[in-house]
Amino acid sequence: MTGRPAESFETIPVAPAEQVEGGARETSVPAPGGQRRYDLDRAQLSDILAGEPSFRVAQVWDALYRRGADSGECTDLPLGLRDRLAAHPSLAPSLVKLAELEADGEEPGGDRRGAPDGQRTGAEGTVKWVFGLEDGPSVETVLMGYHDRSTVCVSSQAGCAMGCTFCATGQAGFSRQLTRGEIVEQVVVAARAARERGMRRLGNVVFMGMGEPLANYRSVSAAITSLTADVGLSARRITVSTVGVVPGIERMAAEGRPVGLALSLHAANDALRSELVPQNRRYGLAKLSEACSAWTRRTGRRLSLEWACMKGVNDSSRDMAELAGFARPLGAHVNLIPLNSTPGWRCEATPAGTVEELADQLRRSGVNATVRRNRGRSIAAACGQLAATSQPRRRPVPTMMETALTGGRGS
Ligand code: SF4
Repeated sequence: MTGRPAESFETIPVAPAEQVEGGARETSVPAPGGQRRYDLDRAQLSDILAGEPSFRVAQVWDALYRRGADSGECTDLPLGLRDRLAAHPSLAPSLVKLAELEADGEEPGGDRRGAPDGQRTGAEGTVKWVFGLEDGPSVETVLMGYHDRSTVCVSSQAGCAMGCTFCATGQAGFSRQLTRGEIVEQVVVAARAARERGMRRLGNVVFMGMGEPLANYRSVSAAITSLTADVGLSARRITVSTVGVVPGIERMAAEGRPVGLALSLHAANDALRSELVPQNRRYGLAKLSEACSAWTRRTGRRLSLEWACMKGVNDSSRDMAELAGFARPLGAHVNLIPLNSTPGWRCEATPAGTVEELADQLRRSGVNATVRRNRGRSIAAACGQLAATSQPRRRPVPTMMETALTGGRGS
């Protein structure tokens, strides 16, 4: 593996156990300022609406989850009730929009499978938001509109304790777990934005934003329940990404819900993987393979393996042979993704032509492989580039020019 920037690997801490176990020790942290609108259950909303006709609960619930509406926008409610709801602290949003960045359509070489040749539709585009949380940290959410679908990439933690070498979020450290409501609100905001921009209806959710979802299992699991039951999304169109929190994968297998699982593998030998993904020191490839196999058997779903192609690090024929050896027994699909550069790690992406050759090698080895082009590099919204962990909250939303000048980081 010539050319690997080995100096970057020396001082990677293993994430603290309480943040990586993903099982019994994980906690769903209540929002510091108290419950907000997407943390409430129906009984709590019913209490807030005490004295109103019972159908109001369904009416308000539907407005919140299906339309992403503020109570002030619910013109089907009496004015006095709208005012009362608008003033209720538990019906306030959790997220404060600090910045909104947009990129037009798909970038050159983007995934346009099935798109009419040469035609780019208004449904295509990428939007990234930086949201401030009640107690200070920020998270990022990315909406991706394609010609045939819209997908939102949500954050599950403010920052991340996993310390993956190449990832801007990991480089910035961990702030806290997100609540169910903070996760759901990202989806509801994105669904409304997709509607307002003329994008396809939001149907897909990927937990691939900031944080390790399986290290915040309870909130993520509760959010998935709400996204299916309240927002109306299909569990099959929700994908949880992990760097390999084995207890979390085992729990997903035991629960057997049909949500997708994407394993960020990046290396298929323990020595290299432990350098790139410190979590591998806790749960090595053998345990990981066992857990993924159990998940596949239980859910009947195909595992995805994500592989960020790093020039001179994990893009040799030998690396692909090792990857094929890991993927084949699991019947997994491999997504090769050219690395997105981050300020904290000096490594280049594998050139596009080489990535295609690597995919061909995998296919010749009997592995289903595709090359995925990332969305939103120009607005630092691509995989591994999300880094808004420490903005002070409640700053005004900057203009597009301001956000462009500051690279989307607000200052
Ligand atoms: S790649 Fe994922 S798990 Fe690793 S540091 Fe980044 S956000 Fe955390």
